[in-house]
Amino acid sequence: MITARKIDPQVWIGCLACYNAGRLVGDWYSADMADLVTPADLHKRETSHEELWVMDHEGFAGALDGECSPSEAAEIAEALTELNEDEAGAFACWVEVFGEQSDRAHWVDNFRDAYRGFYEDEAAYAMEWAEMTSSDEDRDRMTRWPFNEIDWTRAAQELFSGGMHAEEVPGGIHVFWPY
Ligand SMILES: [Zn+2]
Repeated sequence: MITARKIDPQVWIGCLACYNAGRLVGDWYSADMADLVTPADLHKRETSHEELWVMDHEGFAGALDGECSPSEAAEIAEALTELNEDEAGAFACWVEVFGEQSDRAHWVDNFRDAYRGFYEDEAAYAMEWAEMTSSDEDRDRMTRWPFNEIDWTRAAQELFSGGMHAEEVPGGIHVFWPY
């Protein structure tokens, strides 16, 4: 069995006072520990400098954009460690669109509730949706009906204008039902 790899985001934490004085003092840390790093850790000695800042990062699968505070990075990292790599891309899309409306502590749960999967296009999702939600009787009727003659592109337009959300990525779309 292949186990999908865990996400392991890293942050480069720097000292703002040093940065403003033209010196780069900082180091890479595991992002889930970012809020525990002290100015003394960074400078490797006691210092009067207080403010630390995440100036670079990697491995966040798109869920972190630009710079942020170490505690913010740690919060996002904690949410990410619950995901496997298969989910990471979809999660990043979800965060971009819905993250702000949702409490960080519930990001992963809310994402999993909303995520409907990866599809080639809207029509492909509409077709599967129809199969999943129809009763046995409907299904019977649909299979007698030439399934291919249904205008799935139009059916998809209905579905997606009703609140279903598609986020385009290379090769297809991630589908979310945000409610
Ligand atoms: Zn400093």
